[in-house]
This record gives sequence, structure tokens and C-alpha cells, in this order.
Amino acid sequence: MQFGTVVKLIKNCLINNPMARAYPLEKTRNFGIIAHIDAGKTTVSERVLFYTGVSHKIGEVHEGETVTDWMEQERERGITITAAAVSCAWTPTYLPAEALAKEGGDHRYTFNIIDTPGHIDFTVEVKRSLRVLDGAVVVFDGVAGVEPQSETNWRYADESLVPRICFINKLDRLGASFERSFESIRNRLTKSALRLQIPIGHEDEHAGVIDLLVMKAFAFEGERGEKIKEIPIPDDLKADAQKYHAELIEAIAGTDEKLMNDYLEGKEIPLPELKKALRVATLKVEIVPVLCGSALKNKGVQLMLDAVIDYLPSPLDMPPVVGINPDTGEEVKRGPSDEEPFTALAFKLQTDPYVGQLTFFRVYSGKLAAGSYVLNTRTGNKERVGRIVRLQANSREELTEVYAGEIAATLGMKDTKTSDTLCEPDNPIVLEQIKFMEPVISMRIEPKTKADQEKLGMSLRKLSDEDPTFRISTDQETLETIISGMGELHLEIMVDRMKREFGVEANTGKPQVAYRETITGESEAEGKYIKQSGGRGQYGHVRIRMKPLLTEAEALVALAGKKAPKNVSRSAGFEFINNIKGGAVPQEYIPAIEKGVKEAMQRGVVASFPMTNISVELYDGSYHDVDSSEMAFKMAGSLAFQEAANRAKPVILEPIMSVEVITPEKFMGDITGSLSSKRGQIDSMEDRIGGVKVVHAKVPLSEMFGYTTALRSMTEGRASFTMTPSTYEIVPTNVANTIIESRK
Ligand code: GDP
Repeated sequence: MQFGTVVKLIKNCLINNPMARAYPLEKTRNFGIIAHIDAGKTTVSERVLFYTGVSHKIGEVHEGETVTDWMEQERERGITITAAAVSCAWTPTYLPAEALAKEGGDHRYTFNIIDTPGHIDFTVEVKRSLRVLDGAVVVFDGVAGVEPQSETNWRYADESLVPRICFINKLDRLGASFERSFESIRNRLTKSALRLQIPIGHEDEHAGVIDLLVMKAFAFEGERGEKIKEIPIPDDLKADAQKYHAELIEAIAGTDEKLMNDYLEGKEIPLPELKKALRVATLKVEIVPVLCGSALKNKGVQLMLDAVIDYLPSPLDMPPVVGINPDTGEEVKRGPSDEEPFTALAFKLQTDPYVGQLTFFRVYSGKLAAGSYVLNTRTGNKERVGRIVRLQANSREELTEVYAGEIAATLGMKDTKTSDTLCEPDNPIVLEQIKFMEPVISMRIEPKTKADQEKLGMSLRKLSDEDPTFRISTDQETLETIISGMGELHLEIMVDRMKREFGVEANTGKPQVAYRETITGESEAEGKYIKQSGGRGQYGHVRIRMKPLLTEAEALVALAGKKAPKNVSRSAGFEFINNIKGGAVPQEYIPAIEKGVKEAMQRGVVASFPMTNISVELYDGSYHDVDSSEMAFKMAGSLAFQEAANRAKPVILEPIMSVEVITPEKFMGDITGSLSSKRGQIDSMEDRIGGVKVVHAKVPLSEMFGYTTALRSMTEGRASFTMTPSTYEIVPTNVANTIIESRK
């Protein structure tokens, strides 16, 4: 036997070592809990960690003790800002005894729960978590039903085709109604919603739930509802249970031809077949099972976890991830198997006060051992992965290896940012990057003291590495530092974190709209930086062409990191093509020219706002043997850019927000009038339960400052609104003139 063969055999032995993986892939569930703020997501997560045995004390939110909320201000504000991935194990509760016995041993499943925030300013977190989770539990407040943010997040989940189950929570609350909440899901989110449970009692009388598939009722006893007890279905609910059971069976049968035939022939469909069909339909998002309970009163959470196992996907149910080989530009697919080359997406950077920076990643294929090297295809550099940890609420488990389908974090990665692909160096792949909206709001920030000054830059850099929608820039004119983000609260929280996590005190200016500039035409220009008056002079001379980098497809390609031709360099919203022929400009000066162009882009030609979506082609120029320098060519690049931009019909862009106002009917006229006067476009209006109306509109962000107060006085405080960034659009001329005037 050859030496190589022996090595291979030993390797195979190690690879196939059954001890390596704690649980098989089909027993893994990566899911997120998605909810409107205050619906009870934190409480539900908390119960999950308790029942799965990780956390031994139930911490109530109002005590500020929950395990998933890591950061202090999250506790204070009661908002979950960051998505922490937490792992735990779960054995289904009421598997019939024979099922437990038949398979013999371990019925444990691994859960990786990806936390998602409910607040509107943090939709970026929701989007990013949707990229790495396979399924979701959507939690609703049983009093309020569907709320505005639930709709936004639901739409994001629809875009990514995420299989979901719903949990109508808080049924113990005064005014709670399962039926009303269920109807609001059906009316406003999806007609595919289907009752899998109904509650036993509401408010004080909420005592448990009825599972409509198995037709059994359950109560939750013990101090923390940890004892699940099967009880008879209460007499007054028997008729309802029967009716909804029939509805459920019919709906499930309707998703499968064979079952439909059996159903029509009046045959009884065995439970395992029903479950299987319901699972398939849920995975295809053809059915969304709806469950219920009260997290606070410890009712129903365990059955929700059983449903996660029964109906949400395992990594094996997911299609292979698609990426691009950066060396060849070809499409590559990687399936959820340990045997394929290692492929992972870094989806979250988080600074932990005790261990330093954690980089959370999801493994799509292959495996990774602690201490080995990975390739980051954005930077092209290899990085060593030191320790690998899995977070269990507030403790960490050290892992020697991670496998396909798992979620873990590594410590001490220096050059990896959110959304980077990590892979086996010999098998490079670039996964599609997570798409983020450009920041819409910005403000000045300055250190309070000299000591703060030094730490300010470092801390801002760390925070923006963590959060791609939080950006730092410098006002070229005043040299002030500018921070930009997705909303006032977003920036406020970042400043707060700087103070707490890095001990940096800062003063901030007023929030401003983050305008951009772009071009709408094509142009050519020449840039000359020539000084020849005795001694060594300066000589840089370039000719460029400029055109909009406009189409969605082009922008996507630039963002996806798709391998550009050798002479093209790309970054978000910018492309630089080097078409110099015959050495008109020596190669060594080209990077300096690109740098000059990029610098000039930071200060737009209309009103000094950063420019975006521009393609620049360098096609000619000249040089001088003695006088040419990088500096001179950089200047020439900047001058050419300004000239070309001025000729290419430059415009100002402004962020447009999706605004939703909820109001009693009698204020409708005032509200639509006020939105129109704000250059708003009314998209639609609809009725909600209780005579409430909802107005959907698109309004420029610049017009929305102070709207909270205006709306309050217009409606006696009875209307409310939310807004999320939607698009960037060209500012009308008259408004542009006012902006230009104010910038002078
Ligand atoms: P999140 O913002 O979605 O994370 O919601 P929280 O879990 O922080 O809950 C918001 C508030 O609702 C807190 O005061 C909780 O104690 C309360 N809450 C959560 N679940 C329930 C429930 O099932 N019943 C009742 N009555 N209150 C609940």
C-alpha cells in the first residue's frame, strides 16, 4: 500500500468518526424568533433557554436579567439590538412513548437560535439573520395581533422564502383574543395561516392549548410550567376543536395528491402521514401553522419547540448555497455536507467584554478545525481561526471542530467583516453578500476631551466593522467626523455604545439627511497637474470617460464581489476601468489616479455630498520622465473627475422613506393632506379592525423631521407612524436649489 493511500485512509477514518458530530444534521434546527417590539420575543427566548436546560433561572424582562440581551442599553431600553446566536438542545416533549422507544436512544435536537431585533431602525439585523437561519418562529402579541413591524419583517421573510410558524403570545393578557389575532394574520400577512392549536381560555382563564392535529389538550403545571400534562378537551371547546381539526386535515390533504384522494374517499389518514405532509407544506411556505400560548405564564412554549422540530427545516432541507469562484468567475454550488469544501458566511461581529471580538459564522458546507486557516475571499488573505466557540446564552462552549449546517463564533479574527465569505483556501468561493441599504441619516461627532480623541476613531471603526449600515466619514472641508446610519435611534445607540464599551465621550450635532450625488449623463474630461518653474516640477496628465453605474444588475455585480476583469476595480457604487494603451501613463501611477478619483468622489460637485454609482474609465494621458510623481497623478485624477462630473449632468439624491400611519378614521383627511404637502406619495389606504385606517406612503426623509410632534397635535395623540428607508431618488430642482444655497 502506498504511503499516500495510508494517509488517505487515516484521514477518512477521522472524517467518518461518528463521535465528531454531536448530533446528525437532520437533528439540527437553525431558526430565528421574529417579532414586533414588545410582542414577547425576549420572554419567549428566555423560556426556551430555560426549558432546554441552559438557563436555570427564569429572568423576567422587567428585571433586566434576560440572557440573550447582552448589552446594557438593550436592558435599559428593552430592545434587542444585536442578533446573538445561542445554541441549545431539545428533546420533543410529547412524543408518544412507543416512538421514543422504537428509535431507541437519543431524541435530542440541536437548536441554534438566531436572535432578531424588533425595532424598525434595526431591520438590517433582521435581514442579516434571515440570510443564515433556515426557519422562523414569528411571535405576535395576542392583544394587538399583527403590528406594523411584523408586516415589514414578514415581507423580508417572504423575500427569502423562509418557512415559518406563528406563535400568538400573551393570551393571558386582558383583551387578548386568539381568533382576532389569527384573523389579523390571515388578513394582513398570509392566507396560508392555519390553526394548529387553539387556546383553552383567555386572560385569567388561559389554562393551556389544544393541539388540533392530535386532538389532545395540554396544561402546563409546576412553578415554571415545566410539567406538561395531557388533559381532556374541555366540553365547551369540543365543537370548535372538531371543526378546526377537520379544517386542518382538509388543508393538509389539499397539499398532497395521494392524501387528497384518501381524504375524498373518506379514508382516515394516519398521523405520521399528516405530519409529514404538513412539514412539506410548511417548508414550501404553502402552509403557515399557527400556535399559541403565554410565555410569561409559561404556557405553550415547549409545544412550540416541538413544532420547530416537526415543521421547520433542518440544514439538509435547504438548497445548496450558490457562490462564485473568484478565480474563474464561474458559479459554484455547495451542499450541506461535511465532505464538501469548507464554506461559511461571517454574519455578525460582536465585541464581548470578556473575550474580545467574536465573529459569528454559519457553515454551509464542509468543516473547520480550530487552529486552521481560512481564506477570506473579500480580502484575498488567509486568516487563522484560533478558538471556535458556541454560545449558550451566557456561557461559551469550546469546539475543536464545526460542521456543515452549524453556527458558531470564532475569537480574534482581525480582518473579517460582516458579510464576508470564509472558505477553504484551495477551494475559493464568494457567496452573495448581504444587501444593505445605504445609511439615510448622518451627524457630526467630536470627542469631548483630548483623551477621547485618540480612542474615537478606533471605536467608531470597530462599530462600523460590526454594522455595515453604520458608516464613518470625514467632512473634507471642516475635517469633522461624520457618522451615518439608518435612523436617529440607530445613531443614538452607537454613541451610547461608544461610551459604554470603549469609554469614549463624544458630542454630536443635529441629525441630518444623508444626501448623495450621482451623474445622469456621460462625459469626458482631461485633468492636468503640471508645474514646471525651475527645479523639479510636477507632471500628471490624464483623460477619463465617465458614465452612470446605474442598472441594478451592474450594482449587484459590483457588490457581489464577482471577479472583475483584470483592469477593473470595484467597490460599492464605484467602478474604475484602466484602459491605458501603449504605456501613455506608466502602470505605477494608475493606483494614484484611482485614489485621486475616489477622493474627489467624496466631495460631490453639486453640493459637496458624496457621489455614488459612477463608472470611470481612464483611457489616456501623458507623463514626464523627471517631473511625474504619484502625487501629481493623484491630483490630475481628482481634477479630471471634477471636470467630468460637472459635465455629466450631476444631481442630488435623497433618501425616501416608506411611511405607515395608523389613525382613527376621522383624521384621515388631515393625514393624507399633510403627507402630500411633504412631497409624499400615498401608495395605499386600508381598513383595520376597530375603525382604524392605515395609510402607506413614500415620503422624503428630509420632510419627516418633527413628524412625531406634528402627528400628535394633528390627531390628539391618537395616530402613530413608523418609517423605514426605501430608496434614493433625485431631488426636484427647486428643493435642490435650497439645499445648494444652504451648503454655501
Ligand atoms: P420583546 O420586545 O418582543 O423582546 O418583548 P419582551 O419579551 O421584552 O416582552 C415585552 C413585555 O411583555 C414585557 O413586559 C414582558 O414581561 C411582557 N410579556 C411577554 N410575554 C408575555 C405574555 O405571555 N403575557 C403577558 N401578559 N405579558 C408578556
